[in-house]
Amino acid sequence: MRVLVTGGAGFIGSHLCDALLDAGHEVRALDDLSTGTLANLTAALARPGCDFIEGDIRNTSLVERALEHCDAVVHLAARIGLRIIVESPFDTLDVNARGTESVVQAALKNNTPVLVASTSEVYGYSTKIPSNEDDPICFGSPTIGRWSYACAKAYDEFYALALHRERGLPVVVVRLFNTVGARQSGRYGMVIPRLTEQALTGKALTVYGDGTQTRCFCSVRDVTAALSTIVSRIHALAGEVLNIGNPVEMTILNLAKEILERTASTSTIEFVPFSQAYPVGFEEIMRRVPDISKARQAISFDPKVPLESILDDVIAGLRSTAKR
Ligand code: UDP
Repeated sequence: MRVLVTGGAGFIGSHLCDALLDAGHEVRALDDLSTGTLANLTAALARPGCDFIEGDIRNTSLVERALEHCDAVVHLAARIGLRIIVESPFDTLDVNARGTESVVQAALKNNTPVLVASTSEVYGYSTKIPSNEDDPICFGSPTIGRWSYACAKAYDEFYALALHRERGLPVVVVRLFNTVGARQSGRYGMVIPRLTEQALTGKALTVYGDGTQTRCFCSVRDVTAALSTIVSRIHALAGEVLNIGNPVEMTILNLAKEILERTASTSTIEFVPFSQAYPVGFEEIMRRVPDISKARQAISFDPKVPLESILDDVIAGLRSTAKR
């Protein structure tokens, strides 16, 4: 197959390009290089069957041209990261809602199947653990900037699934839970690259709150393997929503301790109150755990990479970037 990957120069997108090429597919990456970088695609672009187009997903005619001769599109392009979301709420909504409309509309022209990347953020305040694809969702007030991201992503799901139901477009939605690994930038807030960079540079590790909040971290290697499988079975899975994550739960304090151990760092841990850590308009979610039984059944999804290996990937990636 020939697959268009929007957001292909980003963290997950570039790993997906590698995984799709490994699986024998051809790949076209489309990215506006706002948070992604061409350096992420160095290895992929050196291989036959991979090309790159720079551009904005809101430009539907550009997306239509990028989709020419493609058999599927994986739509990952989005504004991400808490700083960007809170500081640029209009742009976040515009790219994450209108940009998705544009990609899905372009795909509809030739009935090209679409895999839409959504997020665990759509579960919002839901206190039911673990989160199941059919659970109700509960967002905070529109006066709280954080929720614009979740709201736009939930809208993307409704939009794409509506086109599946009413117009027969093959659509699969995946909700990604804290995907982590090499090439992820700490610049936009993500905890593992941030704390690892702090540990490697001798700075105190900034644990927000008292560190008892938990997350489930899934290796980008497990995630891209799952996405590649979904792409190859996209017609059979059309209309489905799947959680993709690793259900192993960890407190942020234990994560910080593990990072200190694996980097052999002498850094200390600094507890930063949420009120100082976050810009106005941000609320912390204390727990988020995926129920992956549906993905296990549908695609034999079985995340295998343990947190220790994920951290070693991140540490090696940051060390090699520091050397360059
Ligand atoms: N976090 C932290 N220190 C940091 C950055 C994040 O303690 O320097 C915490 C944050 O409060 C959250 C968790 O790490 O509980 C995961 O944050 P991230 O932004 O990576 O993901 P998300 O909150 O979107 O799940």
